[in-house]
Amino acid sequence: MPVYEFECSDGHITEQLVRMGTKSTRCSKCNKRAKKIISQCSFDLKGGGWYADGYSSKGSKSSKKSD
Ligand SMILES: [Zn+2]
Repeated sequence: MPVYEFECSDGHITEQLVRMGTKSTRCSKCNKRAKKIISQCSFDLKGGGWYADGYSSKGSKSSKKSD
């Protein structure tokens, strides 16, 4: 089974072994519901552009705040 990261509403990150398709689990620290964090590792690997280090997490590059 794959290891996924989950984040609860308090911001705790929990790594858990879960089945494919599991969307949420319990935080191991506060026992609240924690949602799965989709990492960029295996989901956007189409197109064969998986070589550069500059391929950092999508979306987080633009740190503009609409404020
Ligand atoms: Zn928590």
